[in-house]
Amino acid sequence: MRFEGKVVVVTGGSRGIGRAIAKAFGNQGASVVVNYRSNEEAANEVVSAITAAGSRAVSFQADVSLFSEGEKLIKKAIQEFGDLHVLVNNAGTTRDGLIMTMKEEDWDFVINTNLKSTFNCSRAAVRHMFRKRYGRIINITSVSGVMGNPGQTNYSASKAGQIGFTKALAREVASRNVTVNAVAPGFIDTVLTSALPENVRDGMLELIPLGRIGSTEEVAKAVLYLASDDAAYITGHILGIDGGIAMA
Ligand code: NAP
Repeated sequence: MRFEGKVVVVTGGSRGIGRAIAKAFGNQGASVVVNYRSNEEAANEVVSAITAAGSRAVSFQADVSLFSEGEKLIKKAIQEFGDLHVLVNNAGTTRDGLIMTMKEEDWDFVINTNLKSTFNCSRAAVRHMFRKRYGRIINITSVSGVMGNPGQTNYSASKAGQIGFTKALAREVASRNVTVNAVAPGFIDTVLTSALPENVRDGMLELIPLGRIGSTEEVAKAVLYLASDDAAYITGHILGIDGGIAMA
């Protein structure tokens, strides 16, 4: 029960990696706000799983790509559970395409969902964390932001942006005992990756030194570590959870 008494917000906590992160915090005693954009049923399933494990949780609809909704989400956590200790900026999306045909709206949508949301929620959270002189912010970036990926200029730029944001904010807030880190997952077993054609999956597996796809639970374990007291002296770090694919 490493997170008993801690209040955690997970953006995009209704599905995939966010769902695993929200449940892992709940399993270790945290009170969790499970944010979602449109899939209320999925978010409520996560809440039920956490409450069944004996912890507190609520779902909250907010489109975190919008400045005012990021603020509302953070306010909701503080109103509901009286505090905020951990923010996980996980909400993300893709709209892949080659640059010559990528529409302006596909660029804006991905940058706003992945990167602007990280600013929106962090800005609101830092105000509270500063006053409390405690906070953990963990951003879910991607190997695409480290290595680049053809057909994903928008996604890779948003994820590289999160990496720069993590390092800049880590320097800005360190004096107030607020740490800011990121995890960079590689090829993780989610709906997104299971929909890929078999030949594409096989091609990707050949590039991964550990020779397998990662699980959402493996990403969650890294996030919980960075949020724990064991990681109190780590800030501005980008932790790859990628089977070795992006090693320098
Ligand atoms: P996913 O299964 O598609 O889930 C995305 C989650 O984000 C959902 O809960 C969705 O809520 C929420 N969301 C999307 N836009 C939102 C918005 N504007 N406001 C609030 N919530 C929003 O995605 P995933 O594969 O788990 O990815 C999670 C994160 O990991 C993303 O940042 C992604 O870039 C990163 N990542 C994933 C992989 C991978 O292999 N899957 C690899 C590297 C990095 P609704 O369902 O309600 O729309």
